Amino acid sequence: MTDVERLRHSASHVLATAILKIWPEAQFAAGPPVENGFYYDVDLPHRISPDDFEKIEAEMKKEIKANHPFEKMEVSRDEALELGRKGRLAALSDRKEPSKFKVDIIENIPANEKISLYRNGDFIDLCAGPHVMRTGNIGAFKLTSVASAYYKGDEKNPQLQRVYGTAFKTRKELDDYFAMLEEAKKRDHRKLGRELEIFVLDDDVGPGLPMWLPRGAAIIDELEKLAKETEFAAGYQRVRTPHIARESLYKKSGHLPYYAESMFPPMTLRAEGGKKVDVEAQARSIEQSGQLLLESLQQLFPRLKEPDYLLEEFERDFWQQPKQSQVFLEKSAIATVFSKSKWAQLPQPDRYYLKAMNCPHHHKLFGAVPRSYRDLPLRLAEYGTCYRYEQSGELIGLMRVRSMQMNDAHLYMTPEQFEAEFNGVNEMYLNYFKLFGIDKYLMRFSTHDPAKLRQKFVDEPELWKKTEEMTRNVLNNSGINYVEVPNEAAFYGPKIDVQAWSVIGREFSIATNQVDFAQPRRFNLVYKDKDNTEKTPICIHRAPLGTHERFIGFLIEHYAGNFPLWLSPEQVRILTIGDDAKLVDYSISILNELRAHQVRAEIDKSTDQINGKIQRAEQMKVHTMLVIGKRDMEAEAVSVRVHGKGNLGAKPRTEAIAELLLSIKERRA
Ligand SMILES: [Zn+2]
Ligand SMILES: [Zn+2]
Repeated sequence: MTDVERLRHSASHVLATAILKIWPEAQFAAGPPVENGFYYDVDLPHRISPDDFEKIEAEMKKEIKANHPFEKMEVSRDEALELGRKGRLAALSDRKEPSKFKVDIIENIPANEKISLYRNGDFIDLCAGPHVMRTGNIGAFKLTSVASAYYKGDEKNPQLQRVYGTAFKTRKELDDYFAMLEEAKKRDHRKLGRELEIFVLDDDVGPGLPMWLPRGAAIIDELEKLAKETEFAAGYQRVRTPHIARESLYKKSGHLPYYAESMFPPMTLRAEGGKKVDVEAQARSIEQSGQLLLESLQQLFPRLKEPDYLLEEFERDFWQQPKQSQVFLEKSAIATVFSKSKWAQLPQPDRYYLKAMNCPHHHKLFGAVPRSYRDLPLRLAEYGTCYRYEQSGELIGLMRVRSMQMNDAHLYMTPEQFEAEFNGVNEMYLNYFKLFGIDKYLMRFSTHDPAKLRQKFVDEPELWKKTEEMTRNVLNNSGINYVEVPNEAAFYGPKIDVQAWSVIGREFSIATNQVDFAQPRRFNLVYKDKDNTEKTPICIHRAPLGTHERFIGFLIEHYAGNFPLWLSPEQVRILTIGDDAKLVDYSISILNELRAHQVRAEIDKSTDQINGKIQRAEQMKVHTMLVIGKRDMEAEAVSVRVHGKGNLGAKPRTEAIAELLLSIKERRA
């Protein structure tokens, strides 16, 4: 537990204390720290609403002011149970009703285990800790919301009230946090994405399947240009692969069954004489034949209808009734006919899956050509489109989607090349962060749990150890800011997730970087080494710019829609003062010059007053406005106005255009 998590968890004990002061009958379940705060689940006839928060917070303040120590007590399981039955756990005193959830939790703890209780003032709770030293160490807190939640997350269990709050060491940190939330609301990519005409979600297209309007597609084009240039310079080669693949590919990769939950269900089809066949209709017909057979069997052996009738009993009945068996055999001619039927003789249909990741396709490309150590490292890159089945309740704007275009690449290398390649990938990350003004980031290095080999992680204990060590060494040597998280690796190797904070301090998980020793082996990928033996390469999966969806969602909020010139969907808008024919011609000649240089420029063709035109351009956060009046035209000049900066004055036309082109070329902030 981090320091702030410890503080927040301690605040949940204080929250329970306060609720009990007001409603002594309250029953508590679990009260852990969560991202950005804490909660406690409470069972109470009174429905807690935000109107109650002031009253609860007042009691919490008293408890903090009293500065009670958090005292730890170790008891046996029986002692803990006895206290629970007296209602004394998560309570201020003995009560008529037992502490039902706490008793349930204790009953699920093995009999010999020591149990720890924590006390602050009169409040005693079953808890493993840790906590801050005293309630007075909880600096600043606030209750934020109340929701409902099932006990242990299971809808068969009673529904509880989940009271959320947050806490920080200082008042200032708390205030900053709420100010950030306020700002984040204004910057919400769903709101700005709609207002700035960047992307749309449409029910007919389907949930989680964003479509990009021209302004969004412009951002995508710039990001792809950036990635292609950067990757080209770093020695990557581009490839292209289809959006679907046969089931056998994913069985080979292990995504089936390990990853099946996150994939769309398969498309089943069968080609017959070069034509697509309706497999659904065939399946129905096969089902009907099967049904017919079953019905005749049930007439012979009525007990077949009993749900508990066992197969062994059926076999016994079958052999004990030779006469009926005779009939059965006749009847089972149906089965023979069926088995010889057109349906049964057809080849097994193919199953195709929408690709949830690009790796298996890329592995096939590695394997398509004989490789020697001289070809390595081989770096295959593709902005591949993937489809993942996220639960509909988990879809959020561009952050959690079902279709995504990924800044993907797979690097194949010898073990000796691993360090240099991994460093190269990290360097690329850091250069991108600098370009986008991402000052705060953290790499989460997820490793495997040896206890979960085979179920959750491929069963290669030695390779896990080796690659995790190599990765750890590179991270340590490069001085990159990282934390290690056990048990969260991908199933085929250790993984690094990159978390980045936007300028206002909102956290995003935007990119991943994975080391893979298992898939190259599953795909029998080999290269011929110096000594002429065949060896398996190591593979790095990396996506520094993540997916377009998530990265652009991040950028919208990071820049609050005020994109730098090079990324701006509409880089330049030309606004004329009046609609004099000569003025219009002059504007069009500027527009054509800009477009000839690939600048995304437009002219406001309306007959509005200049102030109206400026206001509209500012609203759409157009980066640069070139305002042109008669005097500008006569001097071969333009008046430059930049969104957020205002009027920068008149400049010669050639100079203004040259500056724009340079800023775009250098991708200036
Ligand atoms: Zn605790
Ligand atoms: Zn991959």
